[in-house]
Amino acid sequence: METELLSADIAGIEKAAELIKKGELVGMPTETVYGLAADACNQQAVAKIFAAKGRPADNPLIVHIADISELQNLCDDIPELAYRLAGKFWPGPLTMILKKKSSVPDITSGGLDTVGIRMPSHPAALMLIEKSGLPLAAPSGNISGYPSPTKAEHMMRDMKGRISAVIDGGECSVGVESTVISFENDNTVRILRPGGVTRDDLLEEAENVIIDPAILHEISEGQTVRSPGMKYQHYSPKARVIMVEGGYESFCRYVNENSHEGVYAIVFEDDNKGMLRVPSVSYGCDDREQAHMIFSRLREMDSLGAEKVYVMAPKAEGVGLAVYNRLIRAAGFEVIQV
Ligand code: AMP
Ligand code: MG
Repeated sequence: METELLSADIAGIEKAAELIKKGELVGMPTETVYGLAADACNQQAVAKIFAAKGRPADNPLIVHIADISELQNLCDDIPELAYRLAGKFWPGPLTMILKKKSSVPDITSGGLDTVGIRMPSHPAALMLIEKSGLPLAAPSGNISGYPSPTKAEHMMRDMKGRISAVIDGGECSVGVESTVISFENDNTVRILRPGGVTRDDLLEEAENVIIDPAILHEISEGQTVRSPGMKYQHYSPKARVIMVEGGYESFCRYVNENSHEGVYAIVFEDDNKGMLRVPSVSYGCDDREQAHMIFSRLREMDSLGAEKVYVMAPKAEGVGLAVYNRLIRAAGFEVIQV
């Protein structure tokens, strides 16, 4: 299959909308990461998403809408708090898990009776949803298990020949996937996956915000998993990733002692003060910058032919909680304290 790279203008998006209406797959830029979009209510189209990504069938897809009024066509028993959160954070990087209506096929929700809904803020995503007139199922547009795409070229690398088109909407501003929440009661939400909307942001509307333990800890056998995605190996480049907790100097000492051909480092600062004896790249200094850059940096390690990558652990605060969550999974929970 030929994969067309479309520009994010009206002509490009109209073409993409026609493909979506025909049940085809399109790479869609969003403010979080690039998504692999299809008509959420067309079972054959959604089946193509799972096939193109190699995604396990029990890992549900997020459904993207362009207008809050669409919520009631897809979901039942919507709590008042959900409307308040949507009013505050939509369009934006917040996904809410709600009871699904039968209009959402089981294949889209991975067999669950709930569905995740989000309204993205990227203008190209909103326009694609509007022009197609359909809710769009769109998981991250990577091959399952690999780091998520934050540029059109990442999507092309993973999906060229597998899907009809990719819309080039530039670099994703947030850079990590949306915050996924479920509702515990009228005033309590649970973060199932951290993202661009932080715990403090949510506390502006919700009285209590629980951080699910699976965000920072490995799932043990037999443990209940509230979010199926947490079970799977995720975000990993071909290179082995090792997360290192500790200060910059101890980091450099440890990496230098363990350096050999094929070892790389991902550090905070651009100026690494000449202390590291292995090649390194930076992923910024604060939480927002780190979120914006991390997936691109992980992918870059494979282009450089890295075998082993030591990454300076981010502070697990603010959006940094999302960065920490992605990296610890990329590292298969291999963390070293120095
Ligand atoms: P992705 O589309 O790659 O960003 O992954 C979406 C993630 O959202 C999944 O891996 C799930 O963990 C989570 N998710 C989506 N729908 C649900 C749901 N109905 N219940 C719980 N978690 C969900
Ligand atoms: Mg994903």
